[in-house]
Amino acid sequence: MDCVFCEIIKGNIPSTKVYEDEYVTAFNDLNPQTPVHVLIVPKKHIASVNELTEDDALIIGKVFLAAKKIAEQLGLESGYRIINNCGADAGQTVMHVHFHLLGGRKLGEKII
Ligand code: 5GP
Ligand code: ZN
Repeated sequence: MDCVFCEIIKGNIPSTKVYEDEYVTAFNDLNPQTPVHVLIVPKKHIASVNELTEDDALIIGKVFLAAKKIAEQLGLESGYRIINNCGADAGQTVMHVHFHLLGGRKLGEKII
């Protein structure tokens, strides 16, 4: 399987890791859109939100708990945004489910 995030998780592709636990790894995005731009990635290869099953509910809960810890660790007490892109229309480019944690400045208007 040729998955860039699986290779990062295994340590075969370098990344700047900011958090890791049994379920998730988090590292800085290669092309940051905000001063803090972290990708929170489940260690299990799941292509997108569309491929989640009931068995993955714990993993997704762990993603959000990781987000909270990372935000605290990186001093985002004034707020942050979590984004998931699912599928072509949303512009998902890496088919291993991941959540963008964005912050470090006042973010733009909400898109919903
Ligand atoms: P998507 O568009 O799929 O929601 O987001 C994929 C993200 O992965 C992009 O923001 C892109 O910059 C990031 N990315 C792609 N390849 C790599 C890589 O090899 N290392 C890191 N750290 N980020 C990557
Ligand atoms: Zn993968």
